[in-house]
Amino acid sequence: MAKQRRDDNNAVLRGLPSVDELLRTARAEEMIRSSGRAHVTNLARLAIAGTRADALAGNISGELTRAAERALVNIAESESLQGLRRVINATGVIIHTNLGRAPMSADARDSLLQAAAATNLEYGLETGKRGRRGSRVEQLLVGLTGAEDAIVVNNCAAAAFFVLKVFGSGGEVIISRGELVEIGGDFRVPDVLEQSGAALREVGTTNRTKVVDYERAIGKRTKLLLRVHPSNYRIVGYTATPGVAELATLAKKHKLILFEDIGSGALVDLRKYGLTDEPVVSHSIKAGADIVAFSGDKLLGGPQAGIIAGRAELIGTLRKHPLNRALRVDKLALSALEATLDAYERGTALEDVPVLVQLSLSAAEIKRRAEALVKKLGRTSLNIGIIAGESAVGGGAAPNVHPKTFLIAITHKTLATDEIERSLRLSDPPVIARIDGGRVLIDLRTLEPRDEQYVITALKKFSKK
Ligand SMILES: *Cc1c(COP(=O)(O)O)cnc(C)c1O
Repeated sequence: MAKQRRDDNNAVLRGLPSVDELLRTARAEEMIRSSGRAHVTNLARLAIAGTRADALAGNISGELTRAAERALVNIAESESLQGLRRVINATGVIIHTNLGRAPMSADARDSLLQAAAATNLEYGLETGKRGRRGSRVEQLLVGLTGAEDAIVVNNCAAAAFFVLKVFGSGGEVIISRGELVEIGGDFRVPDVLEQSGAALREVGTTNRTKVVDYERAIGKRTKLLLRVHPSNYRIVGYTATPGVAELATLAKKHKLILFEDIGSGALVDLRKYGLTDEPVVSHSIKAGADIVAFSGDKLLGGPQAGIIAGRAELIGTLRKHPLNRALRVDKLALSALEATLDAYERGTALEDVPVLVQLSLSAAEIKRRAEALVKKLGRTSLNIGIIAGESAVGGGAAPNVHPKTFLIAITHKTLATDEIERSLRLSDPPVIARIDGGRVLIDLRTLEPRDEQYVITALKKFSKK
């Protein structure tokens, strides 16, 4: 029995190439020229193992060398899709978490390239001596937020943890039950508090919390009042939460620190774009928050970073703390943040920072661009229409704001929508669209006009023969 099976297997596997044989095929030689022999050898081993298994399972009819060659190409392709690369965000979600959050300004992109070389990161050009990392960014932040001082760490999660650890650990932190939120999977306020070594003291109810609730909970161990912007979540209806100013008065009376985790971090008032309940950082500082923390890559529109701004004495304590070194931001993020903040400082953020540009685009303008794109595309086998729809802010900000837009809506006589979507996604660069109501939808709000050519290229794959 065992011998019979072995003989059958040998017959099926006759013609399975060795690694060396596979490496001598035309496709493999081409790949070796671009990615090197050692790497392609590893892929060839996987390709042969896969082909062997397929052959034994009876899934291959033709020649095994051809099948192994095809397997090698497929493995190389799927590997290349796993690497980090730019994509075209045609989803209409402005701060798309899966697509790297805020797209950066042209100036920020330039400064990233510059900073990739040697920089004066911790070097004073005037003095020729050691300088402080981030000092210019800190100055800009002071100017833009009205805070006495500021520092930058890796992200807002790190910022919140840092503040709670340094000022809350060993004591109690009071927070409203309506603000014990989870922000995107792995940032849960109660968990961050636990990690910081501060005891959580929850007050009020899910929908209503008043200043007296905080006041009653204040005791000997209380160190901090924490206010968290609910970000991706809204409680509507019969609700109440004290404003920053009321809590600031209470904190002052009891010599406590008021810390606000703002998250989304709007540096300018975005009410005219419908973002009515996104706190503006300078307003919180003005209202009396001792420390605020916010992200660099949400509404601010810069790189991943966590910004902590507030009273000089408190920021000074953080700056000197050993954790600051562990959480610090790298030179690339710092340079991109500086370029982004420069636009705010110059007063050109609304024209230069893509998040703000995209928020402010009117539906009429998007419709005009969509019509022009469809016209340029010419005849394809696709059915294309332009329909009214909604974009989204994303990034855990303004979940109830849906900017009006126009969408390029695509269907096909025979192809399923997910096949069309997949074909766009596997274009170069990948075009990320969404599917809704049996159509593939492209929202031009989230891509720059000069990137529309890539959408055209991806759609031309369906051109009429
Ligand atoms: C997004 C957010 C965070 C986490 O910020 P990251 O920059 O992603 O680390 C923390 N707190 C609030 C309120 C947020 O909205």
